[in-house]
Amino acid sequence: MDFAYSERTQSLINQVRQFMDSHIVPRIGEWQRSVADGVYPPPFIADLKALAQEEGLWNLFLPGLHDDEPGTRLTNLEYAPLAEIMGRVHWASEIFNCNAPDTGNMELLHLFATPEQNTRRLQPLLRGEIRSAFAMTEPDVASSDASNIQTLIQRDGDDYVINGRKWFITNASHPDCAFLIVMGKTDPDADRHRQQSMIIVPFDTPGVEMVRNIPVMNHIAAEGHCELLLRNVRVPASNLLGTEGDGFMMAQARLGPGRVHHCMRAIGMAELALELMVDRAQERKTFGRYLHQHGSIGDGIARSRMEIEQARLLVLKTAWMIDQVGAREARREIALIKAVVPEMLGKVVDRAMQVFGAMGLTPDTPLADLWTGARALRIADGPDEVHLRSIARLELGSSAERRGSSSDYLTPADVLRRQ
Ligand SMILES: Cc1cc2nc3c(=O)[nH]c(=O)nc-3n(C[C@H](O)[C@H](O)[C@H](O)COP(=O)(O)OP(=O)(O)OC[C@H]3O[C@@H](n4cnc5c(N)ncnc54)[C@H](O)[C@@H]3O)c2cc1C
Repeated sequence: MDFAYSERTQSLINQVRQFMDSHIVPRIGEWQRSVADGVYPPPFIADLKALAQEEGLWNLFLPGLHDDEPGTRLTNLEYAPLAEIMGRVHWASEIFNCNAPDTGNMELLHLFATPEQNTRRLQPLLRGEIRSAFAMTEPDVASSDASNIQTLIQRDGDDYVINGRKWFITNASHPDCAFLIVMGKTDPDADRHRQQSMIIVPFDTPGVEMVRNIPVMNHIAAEGHCELLLRNVRVPASNLLGTEGDGFMMAQARLGPGRVHHCMRAIGMAELALELMVDRAQERKTFGRYLHQHGSIGDGIARSRMEIEQARLLVLKTAWMIDQVGAREARREIALIKAVVPEMLGKVVDRAMQVFGAMGLTPDTPLADLWTGARALRIADGPDEVHLRSIARLELGSSAERRGSSSDYLTPADVLRRQ
């Protein structure tokens, strides 16, 4: 096992870090002022995207691109430390065309698009000219069980007609959001996992209504987590992604790598929180000592380092497994990190907030945003419990294979009895 980054990865780490330090971190204030003034995305975003593309820091997330598509061909393991660096500023990933949910949609289209869908939807996304959203969750049903989804996608001649209500649809208020990938039911009477399909819905199709941008922890994201009403939305049948009944399978294919990317970025968020905590603990004094000289603060710093390192190793192992055996075979590891990493991030950020005192709860540090991100991630892309359920089921399944073999081991009492 080699824990060192390859030469190529190390060189990309340096390049992304330098890009962040030179072009992104100095603009954090400008980004916030611009969005507060209602200008989103801020005009400099387009310039930075062009610069990142010029420097080859583009579409780093997508392994196995075709030769004629823009981007690098990194493995998931090579991408992990780069995503970690991007995760430190919440809008940075978009500069490198590596932001959710567009990345998940690009992966979906990469796997399942027809040549026409590839040209009209995937290529402009890969070039960063448009944005997109993924619409699965619904207010009226428990959507962590995707088989509950009620939106109907009904065939009518050469078209499909879609009716339903979706919410928490990220990116839907981005002015460049050109289309949604909608998950719904084409055949409610089919087997439980063959009822669903996915379809591309251009955002300007009549019947697509933006109800509201939903605040998350009372914070309104500029790109949006939106409620949408789909009322008699008519699109050509050629907009169907894959074939009817493939929706559930495609959702699994999409969510696997997406979850790993979230976790990679979350490691970077935790590193930032720890850095802030360590710096602050060396600046402030109470009762005649620097904060870090109080044992409990030192413990918090040490625990945070331990937990980040554990989580990072698990994320890297997961990325490596996806590279080696694919996301399906790595599903246990994906579930593990999706349960472990957001919880770890929440704990580390919470400790950092405590060290900052009241200031830790204000917008004067990034901690409040990091905490909101951590909390949301324990629900988005599947709540913790759903991942725990998957892990437990896989553990119980593998126990069935070896059942009985553990009983070959004698207890100390058995040994004594036999003597
Ligand atoms: C910031 C953010 C962005 C999002 N972006 C998108 C997006 O772009 N597109 C999209 O489609 N959705 C998006 N979502 C929605 C998200 O994926 C769903 O909220 C999530 O899948 C849970 O579905 P639900 O809210 O309907 O919760 P429910 O399914 O109602 O579950 C509620 C709770 O029930 C408990 N629970 C569920 N199953 C089990 C179980 N097996 N055992 C024990 N307890 C259980 C859990 O505590 C869970 O939190 C986003 C959510 C957030 C917060």
